[in-house]
Amino acid sequence: MSIQRNTCLWLIGAMIFQIMGCTEKNTDFYTVEDFVKVPKIDAHFHYNTNDIRFLEYADSINFRFVSPNVDAGMSIDRQFEISAAIKQNHPEKFFFLGTFSVDNFGEPWFSDSVIERIKESMKAGASGVKVWKNIGMELKGPGDEFIMIDNPVFEPVFSYLELHKIPVLGHLGEPLNCWLPLEEMTLGYDRRYFAENPRYHMFLHPTAPSYEDQIKARNNVLEQHSGLVFAGAHLASLEWSMDELARWFDSFPGLKVDLSARMGHLQYQSLTDHEGVRNFLIRYQDRIMYGSDTAVSDLDTDYRGKTIELHQVWLEDWIYMATDSTLIVADLDRRHVRGLKLPRTVIDKIFHKNAEDFFITNSSY
Ligand SMILES: [Zn+2]
Repeated sequence: MSIQRNTCLWLIGAMIFQIMGCTEKNTDFYTVEDFVKVPKIDAHFHYNTNDIRFLEYADSINFRFVSPNVDAGMSIDRQFEISAAIKQNHPEKFFFLGTFSVDNFGEPWFSDSVIERIKESMKAGASGVKVWKNIGMELKGPGDEFIMIDNPVFEPVFSYLELHKIPVLGHLGEPLNCWLPLEEMTLGYDRRYFAENPRYHMFLHPTAPSYEDQIKARNNVLEQHSGLVFAGAHLASLEWSMDELARWFDSFPGLKVDLSARMGHLQYQSLTDHEGVRNFLIRYQDRIMYGSDTAVSDLDTDYRGKTIELHQVWLEDWIYMATDSTLIVADLDRRHVRGLKLPRTVIDKIFHKNAEDFFITNSSY
């Protein structure tokens, strides 16, 4: 949730200006200079403050936000209040996803109360609902057993969401690294996160559900609700393998993922298979939404410092996706990662059109 991201450097090399082959024109690709002017959506950005200046800054460089409320950190009522107010005042630039608490899971009226909460969110202008990893990794039943997302108690909730075509962003499970010791994790970002959050570091909790259990429970819900408008946050927790993710895309046609907090996993794979990652993104160009998982809150009192930090995260991601410049990625032990230089048409889909289709067109509740 915080903005501890790669501190990469980008090198403008002669590569940006390299002469294209005869089949590829310069106009088929964006440059680093195009970053500011191209319309973009950060489809996973936690906007947890009433300070509207960050929205204005984003707007000045053509970013809009989808801000998922999440059952963690600041109270969900406060998150909802902030989101609903910003939505009301800036309906074109700001979108949010409601969420629900699992505190009363054991009560017979639990699923009804979740549905009520979803209705309330949608009436306040939400573009969908987020479900979080506390289901599967934290929530326990009366016998101290972990409650998974395919538990029958959630069944009426998913039926409701499916019936009303309400978009669902599912952060379920975690990256595969979560089940490894810190020193075996492939990415610095994951090492830091799990060192700071040992209760979610499943390597330390061998009796908790496995990685496969998490994926299976999520996929069970998707199989039972084939009409659900669903996107898997964080590359659907299949970030470690493009091939696995491709199989998931093929098994569940129409579903989407966001890239948030997992760009490093694509970069890691592109170190050894640059063309493979590039071809994967081109093949599934309609299914992938850009998101950073960065956040702003009332603690961000240094407006200038914060906007510089956000700008750098977004720009580095743009350079990796849109150009073939080289990034030095701190999270990958300062290895050099060459950008993918995806075609303009693909960048437009990943950076805004797919999120528009998924959250904005669908959210006519
Ligand atoms: Zn998030």
